Amino acid sequence: MPPLRLDPTSASSPLTGLEPKPKAQRRRTLTTIEAPKRWVLGVSRPTSNGPSPLLALRGGELLKKRDLVGLFERLDALAGPGVQLETAGLVDGHPIRWVRLAPLEAPPKLRVLITAGVHGKEAAGPAAALQLLESLQADPLLRRDIEWTVVPVICPTGYLAGTRRNGKGINLNRVCTKSPNAPAEIKIARQVLDDGHYDLSIDLHASKSAGDRGFFAIHNGGEDLLALAMPAFLARHEVLDRSTELYERTSPGIFRSKNEGTFKDYLRQRGTERSYTVEAPALAPYEKQVEGLADFVRCVVAAASMDPPIPPRATPFIEVLPPG
Ligand SMILES: [Zn+2]
Repeated sequence: MPPLRLDPTSASSPLTGLEPKPKAQRRRTLTTIEAPKRWVLGVSRPTSNGPSPLLALRGGELLKKRDLVGLFERLDALAGPGVQLETAGLVDGHPIRWVRLAPLEAPPKLRVLITAGVHGKEAAGPAAALQLLESLQADPLLRRDIEWTVVPVICPTGYLAGTRRNGKGINLNRVCTKSPNAPAEIKIARQVLDDGHYDLSIDLHASKSAGDRGFFAIHNGGEDLLALAMPAFLARHEVLDRSTELYERTSPGIFRSKNEGTFKDYLRQRGTERSYTVEAPALAPYEKQVEGLADFVRCVVAAASMDPPIPPRATPFIEVLPPG
């Protein structure tokens, strides 16, 4: 992947074609971002409700919550050229399955890993992962030079029971870096996580931190790519825009957290600098959570592959500049 530049003092962006602003104007923009009126409610609003221009939605109907059998049936239905369907292992008799979609053109320019269902209760992640897989399978051109690896349900016992933790009461997203006594799910998932170098990883979750609105992404580095992707996402979805007890806002929809032992931490340790967690608003309608998570993945991957280029940054930000 080519290096991404976000330095506002650098030459014009290769993505947006925008020339750098004169110094005084730059400073004013940054000041404005700290306290814009439109974000008083702590959620920044979408600027349009249109469909994603990045990928056509071809996925099947919405997966029901806790429907592991239905999910596996639809994974099996993905079988075809360039589709690798695997079972990494069993937990209490339930398989942890993963799917790899080969790019049309080898070698891939981008290797992407999507994980979901680390917290069993957060059912929107597995449904979004399935929707992505079905979209990509229906239109292989969408994965022309990208290899996708997807683990839709990391914690099958939690998913079936509708619980955040696994059947043994462990929060898997705090022990992913633990070794050697990691839970069975982590040991099994590592077969996929350790399978070569991924350029980008996204772990799909849902959180009550943003109430019934506001998606947000969490990073411990690699914010440059999130910042490139967020304007396209903001155009269609609300994002959390204030710090909470658990999460520190760095820009609209983009946060850091102090949680340790997460999947993104593990992947960062493995060399995937651009490893993120994305949280859907858990109190929003399920369908909306699923749609937003899938759309977030599309926006980040589009920004990473720069094909097609993401829309110019900014409309929401430039609009709130004070007069003068
Ligand atoms: Zn979660």
